[in-house]
Amino acid sequence: MPVGEAGDGQVSIEDRIEELRGHGVELVVGSVTDPAGVTRGKYVPLRRLGDFHRSGMGVSPSWSVFCVDTGIAFTPTIGVAGDLRIRIDPADVRLIDDGLAWAPGNLTEQQGTPAALCARSLLARTEAAAAERGLTVRVGGELECTMLAADGGPATTEPWSPYGIRTSLDRSAFLVDLATTAERAGLSIEQIHTEYGHDQLEVSLAPDTAVATADSVILTRIVLGRTAARHGLRISFSPVPFEGAAGNGAHLHLSLADAEGPLFSGGDGPYGLRAAGKSAIAGVIDALPDLIGVYAGSAVSALRLKPGNWAGATACWGLENREAAVRFIAATPGSPHGANAELKLIDPSANPYLAAAAFLGSALRGIDRSLELPDEVADNPSNVATAPPPLDTEQTAVIDAIEHSATAAELLTPEIVGALVAVRRYEIATFGDLSPAETTAALRLAWSC
Ligand code: GLU
Ligand code: MG
Repeated sequence: MPVGEAGDGQVSIEDRIEELRGHGVELVVGSVTDPAGVTRGKYVPLRRLGDFHRSGMGVSPSWSVFCVDTGIAFTPTIGVAGDLRIRIDPADVRLIDDGLAWAPGNLTEQQGTPAALCARSLLARTEAAAAERGLTVRVGGELECTMLAADGGPATTEPWSPYGIRTSLDRSAFLVDLATTAERAGLSIEQIHTEYGHDQLEVSLAPDTAVATADSVILTRIVLGRTAARHGLRISFSPVPFEGAAGNGAHLHLSLADAEGPLFSGGDGPYGLRAAGKSAIAGVIDALPDLIGVYAGSAVSALRLKPGNWAGATACWGLENREAAVRFIAATPGSPHGANAELKLIDPSANPYLAAAAFLGSALRGIDRSLELPDEVADNPSNVATAPPPLDTEQTAVIDAIEHSATAAELLTPEIVGALVAVRRYEIATFGDLSPAETTAALRLAWSC
């Protein structure tokens, strides 16, 4: 079995160690991504792979309330006592760099049961809830990011051409290395392009299960970071890396199917939407005001999430509408993976496991309640008199909303909402009085891997 392909569970840990040794692996890192959206990990020598699986590596419960800087937002229930473990599955191990392999970790109790604060387990449970309803889930991810110089400043100062062949070919050695490293890591990259923003890059991933895609988002960030470093660059996953610059999105695409086929095509609703498909999109839109805190809740998120930025700052949907929170993509030959709903307002400060759990969970909630799909907004919402106003995306407002939301507690659990609110309130206290220039500079590398 080539390294980088998912295992079938039949390979012994000893065989897996031998196989990885054959690829030059010396060290294995297992990571978890926390409510602040930061990915943290522990390393073991390859011979301890079995221990990383069976016993896990110890982490303090405070890992879930570590902040975007070195702060810790202790809560009444998350303090200095107790211990959790990060456990990895040897079948998930991927090559990320010379001598180094990575696997996504689950946060568990000592006994091995999922910890209440494990975002990856929450997403797996949400996906299982879809399966209980007879639904198959596919999620695709887009990663926008900004190339930086090694010192964390701008990578280039000359004029930029959005999607320009010059701006991308100037980085051809990096891009070829990126494609090669991603293949080696087993990633299914669909497309790479330089984006609208200065030094901005985008990588999109083929659809997969929700957990596999959230894992791939983290793996892609790691691969981007490691590859960039070989070319004298760094990568920012900040929603807004420089004051006034174009923002970085972390859009997710969702499609659902039951025994009869896709929910977003083949029906008699708009663009072929079936009744359950309409309710799924309605559920996502209905829950948006409560869930912005998980999709785009950081101290710099509101700088991006504004009308005019193609970030989806209005709670509506529309066919191929880049200003709608939900951009609907219909089933056409131009959409090889079929019809899907893209949630544009997610940014890379969001934990991708939690964002996917909220997106999928709110779609299921819409189906369970047979929610009515609002009218399509077919143009820029600011030009449509009947469109809703832009969402209130200011950090205090979105954190207040998620803190008091029954929907957020239902979809994300009170424990995870509590930790998320704690780390984002720390950001309000720490960065709230700083200027956008100071905050964007302070957080430029906060979500990099
Ligand atoms: N950069 C935009 C964002 O912040 C998205 C641009 C696009 O439509 O790809 O979400
Ligand atoms: Mg884009």
